[in-house]
Amino acid sequence: MIEIVGKKCCGCGACKNICPKKSINFVVNTEGFLYPEINYNCCTRCNLCEKVCPILNHSYGEINLIEEAWGAKAIEYQLRYESSSGGIFSLLSEQILTRDGVVYGAAFTNKFRSIGHVAVTESKELYKLRGSKYIQSDTGICFSEIKNHLENRQKVLFTGTPCQVAGLKSFLRKDYENLFCVDVICHGTPPAALWQKYLDYIEKKHVGKIVSVNFRHKEKGWKEFGFDLEKEKIRYYRNMRDDPYIRMFLKNYCLRESCYQCEIKNSGYQSDITIGDFWGVETVAREIADDLGVSLVIIHTNKGKSLFEKIQPFIKSVSVDTTQAVSHNSAYFKSVTRPNERNCFFDDMNMLTWEQLTKKYLTEKIKVRIKRQIKRFVLNLKSTKGKEN
Ligand SMILES: Cc1cc2nc3c(=O)[nH]c(=O)nc-3n(C[C@H](O)[C@H](O)[C@H](O)COP(=O)(O)OP(=O)(O)OC[C@H]3O[C@@H](n4cnc5c(N)ncnc54)[C@H](O)[C@@H]3O)c2cc1C
Repeated sequence: MIEIVGKKCCGCGACKNICPKKSINFVVNTEGFLYPEINYNCCTRCNLCEKVCPILNHSYGEINLIEEAWGAKAIEYQLRYESSSGGIFSLLSEQILTRDGVVYGAAFTNKFRSIGHVAVTESKELYKLRGSKYIQSDTGICFSEIKNHLENRQKVLFTGTPCQVAGLKSFLRKDYENLFCVDVICHGTPPAALWQKYLDYIEKKHVGKIVSVNFRHKEKGWKEFGFDLEKEKIRYYRNMRDDPYIRMFLKNYCLRESCYQCEIKNSGYQSDITIGDFWGVETVAREIADDLGVSLVIIHTNKGKSLFEKIQPFIKSVSVDTTQAVSHNSAYFKSVTRPNERNCFFDDMNMLTWEQLTKKYLTEKIKVRIKRQIKRFVLNLKSTKGKEN
């Protein structure tokens, strides 16, 4: 029986998917994260759940045979504008969809209140997966569905956080030639509960149905991305430096406990390809740098390499030194530091109103606030000038 329910569980869902008696359910804990709960009335103690846990067992199949890094961006303007970085996820996915395959990734569910892994079989549906959502995604029973597709010889592209990819690989316990895994460089994930508290606050302030949410709006550029939410009649836009949810995320107050000691970053990526923001591209690969977004693509396997080769006609890319490329993106190789505030953050999340929570955790010294306001003013000026030219 799975005994890592405590701090180390990353919530990938492999144990729930493997259980032959369906005796494992994922239940929201007091911090708002999903953790496995075992129904001992039907558990037969087969221990399969422990065997497939990616935290208890490391390394499955063909991993890290090669390591190549590329700076890459989609040629198509609109695709890149709508994606978090260079739009590489969508192009890789198209390759699978045009071969009658299935793509699994994270989409908004429950009227934008939660995130879950869903299947997409048509290009026109890819927009659901496009864009980073800074909330932990519930993988549900998608690992079992993926296994069925693979056994039926259908191509599958699975995308998610590194621990979700490791969870899927571990659940499958065998290499499939028709499975492609792409993970994102991961800062860590907050729970849906915190996001819902923020939505409730916005809901109360501005009445209306939410019609879209974008955590990485590029109106003011890729590096100064903004959080954008549209309701029927109003638009709610905040620069990442001003938006309270993004600030709590970037200050690491609200991440899952396992994210502070990410096992995957310690033991090795299990995916074929890892994609992330190519921060520092202007230093490492100036020839493709711009402010619409560039992806850092790290290829781990030959399968990943051949998939990346297929999208060459649709991208501009440049080969880069891996160590140099990740030097500006520590989230690739190390977990974020757990701040002391994390100890009481979730108690406060449950007790305080949104206004009280932001006041307690985000109040800045006057000097810092003035500096931030000046920066925002300069930014607005630059973007207005850019639009005029
Ligand atoms: C929680 C989170 C933290 C991240 N932290 C970093 C970081 O510290 N440094 C960095 O360089 N990059 C980070 N990224 C990755 C980055 O934001 C882009 O997603 C990545 O560069 C791919 O961009 P793209 O333009 O190719 O495609 P996009 O269309 O932007 O990519 C979307 C992809 O992200 C997946 N995705 C979106 N939300 C989630 C989620 N909640 N859980 C699992 N998968 C999700 C989708 O399934 C899809 O595969 C993070 C992404 C997420 C989701």
